[in-house]
Amino acid sequence: MQCNVLQYLFYGSLIFVIWTALFFVYFHHGHVRSPLKKAHAEPPSAPSHAHQRVIYAAEELGTARLIAAEAEEEEQAAAPGKQFSPSNENVNYSDPELLDGFLKYGFNTIVSRSLGHEREVPDTRDKRCLSKHYSLHLPTASIIICFHNEEFNALLRTVSSVVYLTPPHLLEDIILVDDMSKFVDLKEKLDYYLESFRGKVKLVRNKKREGLIRAKMIGAAYASGEVLVFLDSHCEVNVAWLEPLLHAITEDYKTVVAPVIDVIDSLSLEYQPSPLVRGAFDWTLRFRWDNVLSYEMDLPEGPTNPIRSPAISGGIFAIYRPYFYELGEYDKDMDIWGGENLELSLRVWMCGGQLLIIPCSRVGHISRKHAKPDSSHEDSLARNYLRLVHVWLDEYKEQFFLRSPALRHRTYGNISERIQLRKQLGCKSFQWYLDTVFPELEASMVS
Ligand code: UDP
Ligand code: MN
Repeated sequence: MQCNVLQYLFYGSLIFVIWTALFFVYFHHGHVRSPLKKAHAEPPSAPSHAHQRVIYAAEELGTARLIAAEAEEEEQAAAPGKQFSPSNENVNYSDPELLDGFLKYGFNTIVSRSLGHEREVPDTRDKRCLSKHYSLHLPTASIIICFHNEEFNALLRTVSSVVYLTPPHLLEDIILVDDMSKFVDLKEKLDYYLESFRGKVKLVRNKKREGLIRAKMIGAAYASGEVLVFLDSHCEVNVAWLEPLLHAITEDYKTVVAPVIDVIDSLSLEYQPSPLVRGAFDWTLRFRWDNVLSYEMDLPEGPTNPIRSPAISGGIFAIYRPYFYELGEYDKDMDIWGGENLELSLRVWMCGGQLLIIPCSRVGHISRKHAKPDSSHEDSLARNYLRLVHVWLDEYKEQFFLRSPALRHRTYGNISERIQLRKQLGCKSFQWYLDTVFPELEASMVS
């Protein structure tokens, strides 16, 4: 009997030690690697790389969405951001709370809790942005933030950064959509804390989990601002983040705009500036950041000039509300998330609009370290991709199936409404998109 107890104790401690060691190696590896990554990634404006594809960062297919670039020039890396967050040197990797936070939320919840509900982040804009002035008569905005099992402090920092860094006359409302979260602190406690924002925040709770794509449409239906701005629930907006986005939309209402997405490190929660990049993807439809074409940087306004982007990364963008509906919202039969960003990107470009990244608008986003998506999520991701491939890729869908042959015979539901929408909007061909917006993708074809 005593012998058994000793055995259990021995094996129990062994498992604990192995877990701690694995966890340590995981982060330590990330740290050792990052300087190498920096060395590979040239600043996007370097002329010699003007037409060469430089990939700054990309995530796995299952999580292929927003991850901002890690590369940055030395000067910017030494930006005042450091003073706003603790450094990783003080992390105790064997703390079970740290592991638990990563498993549940994908980032360091100990630091998140210590940062609390609001903090100041460094102004990461190019200095030339500071001399830009925007009309006082910009359209109003509704900020839509969907969340599912989000960490409480990160969610509140998202809301409070919007409230404090948005001119009140431009902020119509903030719509929070709780996509059936299970965590108890997101119920009464959240209601209580949101009251301090005095009527600016509306909280909508879904009765079942809808997934991000339908949750965004639900949020939009509650919005009354002229422009819809979508944010993830672990963001912090930067100084004067909204004005340049709204300004670009007033120049042409068919312009969908995204800020530069700065990185909030998942371990230290340090706010770090990202380089100027544009959104792109490959034939597997994996999203990635690309370097900006040199001629865009050579324009008179240089690095403050809006950047034409073949795609948006996902959650963070702004669109004129009537245009969102004119363009057909999202495909409501897409599940959870994934693929909807590319579907929207192709729809905007091919149906008469444009996608711009606005360098003077910056929003930080926690680049979470996800666990691998579960198999049901992989199914919905594959289905979403198939729906977009069959509606938008024309004869080029072969290029997708050459890379993902297993998906060739998978079912993807009825797409007749989306095909009808494409006809009704008089959209151009995918060949036009390749020729005009994204020739680099055509160049990477296999025959
Ligand atoms: N989300 C949601 N419902 C879902 C899945 C995600 O409302 O079924 C929210 C999530 O809480 C987050 C946003 O959608 O605010 C984007 O998801 P996530 O951050 O996981 O994507 P990532 O940025 O990591 O790619
Ligand atoms: Mn996110």
